Amino acid sequence: MNILVTGAAGYIGSIVTEELIKEGHTVIAVDNLEQGHLEAIPHGVNFIQADIGDCKRIEEIFSNHCVEAVMHFAADALVGESMTDPHKYFHSNVIKGITLLEAIRKFRIDKIVFSSSCSVYGVPDVMPITENTLTRPANPYGESKLIFEKILQWYRVAYGIEYIALRYFNAAGASEKYGEHHDPETHLIPNIMKVALRQHENIEVFGTDYPTKDGSCIRDYIHVIDIARAHILALGHLQNGNASVIYNLGNGKGYSVFEVIEAVKNVTGKNISVMNKPRRAGDPPILIADSTLVQRELGWSPVYSELELIIESAWRWYKTHMNGYAR
Ligand code: UDP
Repeated sequence: MNILVTGAAGYIGSIVTEELIKEGHTVIAVDNLEQGHLEAIPHGVNFIQADIGDCKRIEEIFSNHCVEAVMHFAADALVGESMTDPHKYFHSNVIKGITLLEAIRKFRIDKIVFSSSCSVYGVPDVMPITENTLTRPANPYGESKLIFEKILQWYRVAYGIEYIALRYFNAAGASEKYGEHHDPETHLIPNIMKVALRQHENIEVFGTDYPTKDGSCIRDYIHVIDIARAHILALGHLQNGNASVIYNLGNGKGYSVFEVIEAVKNVTGKNISVMNKPRRAGDPPILIADSTLVQRELGWSPVYSELELIIESAWRWYKTHMNGYAR
C-alpha cells in the first residue's frame, strides 16, 4: 500500500516507517523537522518536509501521491510541557490534526491509524487499564489526544473514514538504526542512558512520595518495534474491512522509576547516581496496560516483553549514537 506517515522523522514514526518498508509498503514520509531528524528517515524513502497544519501543502502532497492510508504520528508529546503550555498542545495535536483530516476527507482516503496515548486515562482507580477504563486526562497532552480520538469517531460516522487509535503506554528502546532523540530530552530511559554515558551527572527522580512500593512512579514500558508491528497489523485489520476500534498497547507489567534505574545499571554495568526531586506536574502515579483486546483481535503480542530487552536495545543504539542524531 501507499501510506502517508506524518511525523515520520520522529522517534516512533521513523521506526514504523522502517517496518513498513520491510513489509513492502511504499511510504510518503512527511515531517516539519521541528523535532524530527532527517537522519531518522530510512534511505530511499520519499521524504517531504511539510507541516500538517499547512493545508495547501498537505493537499498538494495528496494530489501528487496516490495515498491509500495515513498513519498519523506528528504531535507534541511532552506531558510536563503541556501543563505549562496547553495552547501548543491543542494547536498541534487538535487544530493541525483537523487540517490533516480535512485533506484526508477531500481526497477520499478512508483509513487512518492514529498514534494515541495512555495519558487519555489520567489517574485511573483500577489497574491494569482496559479500553473501557474511564478517560479523564490529567494533562493537556492527554486531553488533546482524547479530543482527536473523538473527532475521528465523528468523522467516521459522517464521512466513513475508518480508524484505529493505538493508545501506547511508555514507548522505549530502539531499532538497530533508529532511536530516541529529543531536544530537550525529558524521557526517563534516554536520560538514564545519558548518565550511563557520563553526559549527565545524575538521574533526577521526579517524586518519591507516590503511593507505590518505592514511592516513585510506575509505568508500562513497551518496545518501539512492538508498537510498529501493531501499526502494521492495524493497517491490515482496516484493509480487511474491519470497523474502527481503539486498542491499548503495553506489556502489562509496571516498573517503578527506581526499578528502571536498576535495570539500566544491570544492562550497562555502569553506576548511575540518583537525585531525588519533587513530583513533576501532571504525572499519574501508576499506568499499566491491559492489552488483551489487541492481542485477541489483531494477534499482536510484545516480542520485547522484558524490560531488560528493551533497555539493551536502547543501550546498543546510544553506544553508537552518543549524541543521538546530532553530529
Ligand atoms: N522521570 C524521572 N526522571 C526523568 C524523566 C522521567 O523521574 O528524568 C519519571 C517521570 O516523572 C515519570 C516516568 O519517569 O514518572 C516516565 O516519564 P517519561 O517522561 O519517560 O514518560 P511519561 O510517562 O511522562 O510519558
